[in-house]
Amino acid sequence: MQRKTFAGLALAVSLSACGVSQQQEVQMGQSYAQQINAQLPIVQDAELNRYINVLGDSIAKLTSRGDLDWHFYIVDSPEVNAFAIPGGFIYINRGLIERSDRLDELAGAIGHEIGHVVKRHSVKQMEQQQKANIGVTLACVLTSICQSQAAQAAINVGAGAVFASFSRQDEAEADQEGIKNVVRAGISPEGFPSLFQKLLDERKTAPDAVSSWFATHPTEESRIAATQATINTYDPALLRTLTTDSQAFHDFKNRVMALPPSPPQQPAQ
Ligand SMILES: [Zn+2]
Repeated sequence: MQRKTFAGLALAVSLSACGVSQQQEVQMGQSYAQQINAQLPIVQDAELNRYINVLGDSIAKLTSRGDLDWHFYIVDSPEVNAFAIPGGFIYINRGLIERSDRLDELAGAIGHEIGHVVKRHSVKQMEQQQKANIGVTLACVLTSICQSQAAQAAINVGAGAVFASFSRQDEAEADQEGIKNVVRAGISPEGFPSLFQKLLDERKTAPDAVSSWFATHPTEESRIAATQATINTYDPALLRTLTTDSQAFHDFKNRVMALPPSPPQQPAQ
């Protein structure tokens, strides 16, 4: 239940002029994660959590930030979205998993979020903003619990300072980084354009389910073309060796789909 006001999530962060150290980043991430996990419905199924963490680690541990203690959580929301907070905490909505038809589509979304952390996009925003009202907007971003007018106002207030709104440049960089991340892990990058196309198609038929994705991950044909162009720079012989799908992924997805219906989302106060 979302009884607490989301304003209570806000953390005052004072940052020194010299920037955010990795230790500070991890401490902030742990603190935000604790609050998010208390507020959002996180799937507790041990087998599902094991799979998502093994998959996530297989991608994250090979990046330049493999030393971080990465954590991957499934949010029990039917909406399509995923999110990263500093320090290596990645949230993937149930709706995104249920929309993925192949391992490489889910891996692409995870690889993209890992890319934000590797490139320290949130930290750079914070260094620029020197303040953050992050928890509020994170909860709003991952679900539609904040689609009341009051909540929208709060989002707008915080919008300059939050992780919710990566710039298009950051988004493009996270795609590029994400492609490298999955290829390094032996997974096909074809899941990027494939998932994006699926979400674009779904926006035409059922826009509500994907609206939070489009609010935070601007996706147009150009994004598909950009990822495809990057994929085309790889040796086709290499690409053919990469994994596109696995039975373990489908066992995982089936188990997600068999979970009880997601809890109803309550409007923010
Ligand atoms: Zn992104």
